[in-house]
Amino acid sequence: MEDGRRVGFTTTIPVEILFAAEKIPVDLNNIFITSPKRERLLAKAEAIGFPKNTCGWIKGIYGVTIEEGIEEVVAVTQGDCSNTHALMEVLQMEGVRIFPFAFPYDRSRDLLALQIDKMMKHFGVTPCQVQQAKETLDRVRAKVHEIDRLSWEEGVVSGFENHYFLVSTSDMKGDWRAFEEEIDRFLSSVKNRRPQSEGVRLGYLGVPPIFTDLYDCLEGLGARVVFNEIQRQFSMPFSTEDIVEQYLLYTYPYSIFARLQDIKTEVRRRQIEGLIHYVQAFCFRQIEDIILRREIKLPILTIEGDRPSAIDARTKLRLESFVEMLQHRKQSWIYE
Ligand code: SF4
Repeated sequence: MEDGRRVGFTTTIPVEILFAAEKIPVDLNNIFITSPKRERLLAKAEAIGFPKNTCGWIKGIYGVTIEEGIEEVVAVTQGDCSNTHALMEVLQMEGVRIFPFAFPYDRSRDLLALQIDKMMKHFGVTPCQVQQAKETLDRVRAKVHEIDRLSWEEGVVSGFENHYFLVSTSDMKGDWRAFEEEIDRFLSSVKNRRPQSEGVRLGYLGVPPIFTDLYDCLEGLGARVVFNEIQRQFSMPFSTEDIVEQYLLYTYPYSIFARLQDIKTEVRRRQIEGLIHYVQAFCFRQIEDIILRREIKLPILTIEGDRPSAIDARTKLRLESFVEMLQHRKQSWIYE
């Protein structure tokens, strides 16, 4: 019974509409990456013909949608990934119902309002119901923003914990009540924590990592991620009155320049010393590295991941050298 209520999606969408419609939202990326069968899910996609040189997330989303028996998917056709077009066609061929959603590249309020209106009609909900859902979810998001603050300002939340709670806001783990309880438990558990030792302060840019141990690895090297850029965007970090404004301020689906402005503000506010730019193998977003490097005046290390796994030896070595270089830089500032 519950299965029919589950609606998958390929990247963050106005999830308020799904909750208002009493659906169970499922961020397909999150259930893929946390699945113990993730390697099998990729193999499943490759077995039906997804090329080896297709992004691991796309293959993972395909595999998990079929494996989990998801019957309907909201596919973001503009503002995320051009591979989604072919992915949704393949899913459609497999009998999955597809609802396309497009974020307008030019950030037009009118076009976004039309998309949101179309989605509300499709799921049979009114603007008033959606506004109510927004108010509820905003309360949950505010608690996650507090977790984020505790991470960069007080140093009592690790980079991974910060990543985990922010990234989970995209679908509220399918059940906002249970998620809110989990957040409340977490917030009480960190009350008595002592701040972590002040290592090198890093920012993480790019789509969430496919590596399983990036944050642990960085902490082991004496660095801390205190800014998870896109994951923070998933949590809708701006205060907004209405849902259209909310998804207009959300930077991820629009041009890199919208993201840049947010990155520069947060880098200053969080006193970040270096940036890790994660890129996914075979992803068009790799090209945006050129713009980030030209526009941001901070050391940036670009790392690439392909399939879900622990960090490979070469990447680990590059991370080590990068953190060491930042440590030396910091020491030379202190003694200058
Ligand atoms: S990582 Fe890049 S190629 Fe892969 S799904 Fe995301 S946007 Fe598309």
